Amino acid sequence: MARDIELTGLRQNNLKDVTLRLPKERLTVFTGVSGSGKSSIVFGTIAMESQRQLNETFSAFVRHRLPKHERPRAERMAGLTAAVVVDQKPVGGGARSTVGTMTEVHALLRVLFSRRGEPSAGLATAYSFNDPQGMCPGCDGLGRTVELDLDLLIDPDLSLNQGALALHPIGTAPWQIYATTGLFDPDKPLRDFTRKERELLLYGSGFKVKRGDYNNTYEGVVVRFDRLYLQRAREQVDEEARPYVRERTCATCGGARLNAAALASRIGGRNLADHCAMEVSDLIEVLGRLGDPVAEAAVESLRRIEAIGLGYLSLARETPTLSGGEAQRLKTVRNLGSSLTGMTYIFDEPSVGLHPRDVHRLGDLLVELRDKGNTVLVVEHDRDLIALADHVVDLGPGAGADGGRVVFEGTVPELTAGPTLTGRMLRRTTGLKERVREPSGRLTVAGANTHNLKDVTVHLPLGVLTAVTGVAGSGKSTLMRRELVAQHPDAILIDQSAIAASIRSTPATYLNAMDPLRRLFAQANGVSPGMFSFNSAGACPVCKGRGEIKTDLAFMDPVTRVCDACGGSRYNPEALSYTVAGRTIADVLAMTADEAARVFDLPQVARLGELGLGYLTLGQPLSTLSGGERQRLKLAHRLRERGRLYVFDEPTSGLHMADVDTLLALLDRLVDEGNTVVVVEHDLDVVKHADWVIDLGPEAGQHGGRVVFEGTPAELTEASTYTAKYLVKSLD
Ligand code: ADP
Ligand code: ADP
Ligand code: ZN
Ligand code: ZN
Repeated sequence: MARDIELTGLRQNNLKDVTLRLPKERLTVFTGVSGSGKSSIVFGTIAMESQRQLNETFSAFVRHRLPKHERPRAERMAGLTAAVVVDQKPVGGGARSTVGTMTEVHALLRVLFSRRGEPSAGLATAYSFNDPQGMCPGCDGLGRTVELDLDLLIDPDLSLNQGALALHPIGTAPWQIYATTGLFDPDKPLRDFTRKERELLLYGSGFKVKRGDYNNTYEGVVVRFDRLYLQRAREQVDEEARPYVRERTCATCGGARLNAAALASRIGGRNLADHCAMEVSDLIEVLGRLGDPVAEAAVESLRRIEAIGLGYLSLARETPTLSGGEAQRLKTVRNLGSSLTGMTYIFDEPSVGLHPRDVHRLGDLLVELRDKGNTVLVVEHDRDLIALADHVVDLGPGAGADGGRVVFEGTVPELTAGPTLTGRMLRRTTGLKERVREPSGRLTVAGANTHNLKDVTVHLPLGVLTAVTGVAGSGKSTLMRRELVAQHPDAILIDQSAIAASIRSTPATYLNAMDPLRRLFAQANGVSPGMFSFNSAGACPVCKGRGEIKTDLAFMDPVTRVCDACGGSRYNPEALSYTVAGRTIADVLAMTADEAARVFDLPQVARLGELGLGYLTLGQPLSTLSGGERQRLKLAHRLRERGRLYVFDEPTSGLHMADVDTLLALLDRLVDEGNTVVVVEHDLDVVKHADWVIDLGPEAGQHGGRVVFEGTPAELTEASTYTAKYLVKSLD
């Protein structure tokens, strides 16, 4: 078997004919500023090609049913092994997927209960909330029920003609049945309905009514709602219905998900649901005392979860509620449990969400994976994790078109001594700021008790930059996202979650720059603005405005090629015959934000440059942006507002140390323009730069949830919290 992974002539996205040799069974870290091309190599090329090659080993029959992977743009790729991508995407599975089911500890506990539970409920499936034998009949094992909230659905002060039914606006078909078939007086406010009329409106069913030429079966408002939204959509309530329902803990099982027989079965006084509700760290102790081989196997898995800093989670926690960093760490644990070797593991910034205290534990796990005989590739900015690398690939020198080259390959000491931006940043130490800003006032968040918070009250300084710190699970996000933003709804939350947008969205459409551009083109050429939209009159008829054509060949990889008719521009010939300042609309969309801002008066676009995103083109699909790029694009969208409270959730993730400097300059500007900025952060450079720090802890989960320090960064260096300890260490 080849000793190296050999990659020649890589050209995916911004890569400029990159040639690389990656040592197998080693830990390689990829560094470089955001947008330099790290993901294009690791995910866009290596992971993509490994998956494609793997798919080729299946029969045509199977292959046809697998997701299709296109061949990355590369001349030669040799020595690849099967790849496992451990990323921050949410763990799927819906409400039936929990930390326990995902890590398979739940399955072990079921076996344990079937053997040792008193009285035993039967075999292991009798303890499964995902199996009819074990699930609570009241909630089908979900632990909660959804119910219609009538107060939200109907407004008793209004009549049908005034729009009393929130879900059935005037003129819709259901409204016509209620208001125009003679059953009710459409002008009478609902509160004046007789008891009988009210019953009929809400719960009536089973008879025909005539509307126009049709006979319709009558369904009362609640009956219809139940049929359409609640019966089929228990696990996931329809978006449309969500505003009108309330979730309640299931009355039958009290949220335990299991039926009476399973819940009656106990070990040491606790039933299975009690075990699942405990924090992992406590569960380890309880199971450890049993001296049972199955319990021991469970303890072994639980110890891994604890080792990676997730001991504060419970097995009952639903995986869709985990943060991206937590999800990634759990996936890591799951892979460590496997005995596979000779694989390529690919991690996307695994340090996200981790306090400096816990980063080394994660590092231990990466090294453990390598030592089992796997190749480990990591995209990372954290100094402590970079330090563990056997080999570093540094990309750059810049982002987008200015990046895409390997600027350094070698060991960490060589990198740190070398001339690249990453090398220089690794050599740098930053001190505390000389002066902190004085707050213009205080904003109180009082009596916060959500999740693990213990009646927390904080007085957030206004008009300054505040960092909220603490180990993962201490309660930072809960305090900021659930309490601050809920108590002060005009706060602007900026995180890295996906932008809800169509596949045709681009920076230009997102920042509302398309309308002025279309109007400019329309006025200059005397045609309608729709001519310059690739979603309407201007669309290329061949690719329908997509710019590319995807051919699905039955038994081969799909081929995407640029549309011949429009050359990838998405526009039809007529649209492309019009110009402004010598450029067609397609030429404008191919310009970078920096160029476009120079030529046209587009303030929205000019802001991208201020945020370090000037290299994006106006027409780049939003789906191709990284999390960090998305976060800054969202910021560009809101940047002109003044006197506001901005809350950033870990804004440095995906950012190189040099990008962090740009971010800090931007946060400073926001504050200096009269805004209040709060960042939930682990990056010590950000903490040093803050005017005020709120540190939560002391530990995670039930052992956290308190404010352990409030004050300036200088005062923090005198404190005795974990954050204080690592802050002092970073100043040496
Ligand atoms: P990094 O991982 O270093 O942040 P990426 O590899 O994600 O960088 O991106 C490198 C460049 O390629 C960026 O300019 C990015 O916007 C661009 N890019 C990434 N994916 C796509 C894509 N699917 N289509 C077009 N451009 C892309
Ligand atoms: P941090 O942001 O400091 O990492 P979190 O606010 O995410 O901490 O978590 C604090 C505590 O609240 C932890 O014990 C965590 O398990 C719990 N928690 C967070 N989100 C949820 C949720 N959606 N459901 C139940 N518990 C949660
Ligand atoms: Zn139930
Ligand atoms: Zn076309």
